[in-house]
Amino acid sequence: MKKTIVICIDGWDSEYLDYRKMNFIESNKSNSFTKIVDSMMPSVTNVNNISILTGQYPSKHGICSNYNYSIETNHGVYLEENRYIQSETIFDIYSKNDLTTLLATSKNKLKTLIVNNLNKNTSFSAEKPSKEDIIDFGIPPSIYSIKANSWTIKSAAKKIKEINPEFSYITLTDYAMHKFHPESEESMEHLKLIDEEICNLIEQNMEYEIFITADHGMSEKSNLINLEQKLNKFRIKSKAVPIIKDKHEIHHSNLGGSIYVYIHNSKDVNESKKIIQNLKGVDEVLTKSEAFENLNLKKEMIGDLIVMGDKNTVFGDIPKSKFPRYLRSHASKHETSIPLVAINSHKISDYFIENKSIGSYIINSYKTLVE
Ligand SMILES: [Zn+2]
Repeated sequence: MKKTIVICIDGWDSEYLDYRKMNFIESNKSNSFTKIVDSMMPSVTNVNNISILTGQYPSKHGICSNYNYSIETNHGVYLEENRYIQSETIFDIYSKNDLTTLLATSKNKLKTLIVNNLNKNTSFSAEKPSKEDIIDFGIPPSIYSIKANSWTIKSAAKKIKEINPEFSYITLTDYAMHKFHPESEESMEHLKLIDEEICNLIEQNMEYEIFITADHGMSEKSNLINLEQKLNKFRIKSKAVPIIKDKHEIHHSNLGGSIYVYIHNSKDVNESKKIIQNLKGVDEVLTKSEAFENLNLKKEMIGDLIVMGDKNTVFGDIPKSKFPRYLRSHASKHETSIPLVAINSHKISDYFIENKSIGSYIINSYKTLVE
């Protein structure tokens, strides 16, 4: 059985390829290719990591946001626990069959979302390492620094050498992508550090099939729309819930390029859609059914409307005076263009059209093998 490593570089927009050619791409071996593919919508972390790991759309695996709100209880939960995933992940399938797996994450929320106690796998995060992890890999740099991601990859490489897993998944944080312009010294240094560790990893595991992709891209944002306020002017009561919302507010102040809107009175949904569609900065508004049809989202897990902004626009309810002086964020259709790099791939490049194609490929190959 061939062994696989998948690396998800959080926020690695295809635009970054124009700023820094990565050596791990240049040094490609045979059966290797690089192409631009689509991420899932909404272009946020949890939705895409779970699509990569299940090979399914959000309508199947149920993770349609980083945060899930219920209008009935007026209560929301961060989707950071494995029990919220409604499809089998590669970790579930492999661990059921006693195959060795490794999960290395920069953000701890992805560790708790991706694996559960039943998964017989090795996992660690840079954000919350255990005592044993620190003995093994040393103290990780702050999760809010450009050095966290290279630590995660380096530590994963060490573990891969030790336990030789059939499947390894390494997923990073987009702190540097949010914080720094792609041309800045910090961003260049961040990519260089990641690049060096990926090159080492490839060199040490020449026989592995390796895929490197992203969960979403990143754009500069300077226009803010407060949808609750806009609808209020028409006496429509609503709750707008940022899809990007997570506990890493330092990254993006919960301002993202798409948002779910829950309308208090269902009679107002169509009217609200019309009003929002006419706002400057709004690209597209879809009802639940349209979001299921067009974006493969699960109706029970989203608002009455999903509103998507133009490249420059974010949604939120902070006063304009509090808007960050420099903001890079994601969640809209303008952040769905991402690279996919394959090394030693046994499958042709045409097969891979989205980041989740990696998951479908790994799961289908395994199922064919055991059948
Ligand atoms: Zn992300």
